[in-house]
Amino acid sequence: TLMVVMAVSALSELWAEFMKAGGATERVFELIDRAPAIPVSGGEQPAHLEGRLRFRDVRFSYPSRRDVPVLQGLDLDVAPGSVVALVGHSGAGKSTVASLLMRFYDPEQGAILLDGMDLRTLDVRWLRQHIGIVSQEPTLFSGSIADNIRYGRTSATDAEVEAAARIANAHDFVSEFPEGYRTRVGERGIQLSGGQKQRVAIARAVLKDPRLLILDEATSALDSESEHLVKEALDRLMVGRTTLIIAHRLSTVAGVDRIFVLDHGRVVQHGNHEALITQDGLYKRLVERQFIAA
Ligand code: ATP
Repeated sequence: TLMVVMAVSALSELWAEFMKAGGATERVFELIDRAPAIPVSGGEQPAHLEGRLRFRDVRFSYPSRRDVPVLQGLDLDVAPGSVVALVGHSGAGKSTVASLLMRFYDPEQGAILLDGMDLRTLDVRWLRQHIGIVSQEPTLFSGSIADNIRYGRTSATDAEVEAAARIANAHDFVSEFPEGYRTRVGERGIQLSGGQKQRVAIARAVLKDPRLLILDEATSALDSESEHLVKEALDRLMVGRTTLIIAHRLSTVAGVDRIFVLDHGRVVQHGNHEALITQDGLYKRLVERQFIAA
């Protein structure tokens, strides 16, 4: 899933913190080993980005398992500033779509276009600066809450960090700690709840202010109070950004502009919830069998 790939990315950019945080070092090396050699700099850095995203007949298998086709002619068209959800069985290829968008890998055939530009012509670091990821089971690195938020834009002032935390519904719980934004989290710090970690991750994305967002929705539910605060924060974050949600819940997909139903690496249905639920197709079955939970 996406979490694993993100760990590799975090490692390249946050080596020191990651090492301090400890953890599964061996596994990480194994992953680096498998990570593709895509140079992070060189290529175009357009001055302006609208945020139109297209996947055109994308075919892909992982380098370690070239015999297993993962995406088999995937087409997606996402209008700038719109919100789309990807749904499908486990293993359908939803996280892989996000990994390709972040250019952790390149398609074997077909193309991914951002404002009509092939991703392969763009500077990778520039590309990643314009994409925010909010994983709903985020890992924070060892450091203060402020450090974790400021990672979204390292030049941000304390006032900007706090403003981002307010938008993300994080300010209130942070203020309740005796040390406020200086409270240490991670291995040797305090443990935050799942919903609190998510709101820190959202604050980080608010500071980053990317054109594109990837939301990787957790399969497990939060308690309803936390769920509400997170949802409200995400709704604020998504405004005006092209958003791709890897969705597992009906409450999420019901409100999006367009749902893409993936099966074996292809889009088999697309439309909004009202349209899809009336069709006798995979979407209806996923909802009925609660692969998309209520
Ligand atoms: P889930 O809902 O369980 O997260 P998904 O729809 O996001 O599933 P992907 O994680 O994109 O599915 O996986 C698609 C296929 O690719 C699966 O068969 C998976 O086993 C395989 N796969 C995913 N990551 C890797 C990897 N790093 N190396 C090899 N195969 C992988």
